[in-house]
Amino acid sequence: MSAAVDCELTQKEQNDFNKHIETCPDCFNEFKEAQKTKNIIQEKIIRFKAPQSLVNSILKLTETPL
Ligand SMILES: [Zn+2]
Repeated sequence: MSAAVDCELTQKEQNDFNKHIETCPDCFNEFKEAQKTKNIIQEKIIRFKAPQSLVNSILKLTETPL
């Protein structure tokens, strides 16, 4: 899930994922939530200029296993 949010999927994986969330509301909602969380974190990072190591550990904490 976090790979999808971070745009780290391959083109095929991305296509499969997009097709899946179109037909699976659960995953769609999870994806939206994960994106929202990521955006909030990125906003905080920009505001407080957190060190990259801290940023990485925060991102790790917010990763939700599928
Ligand atoms: Zn699903």
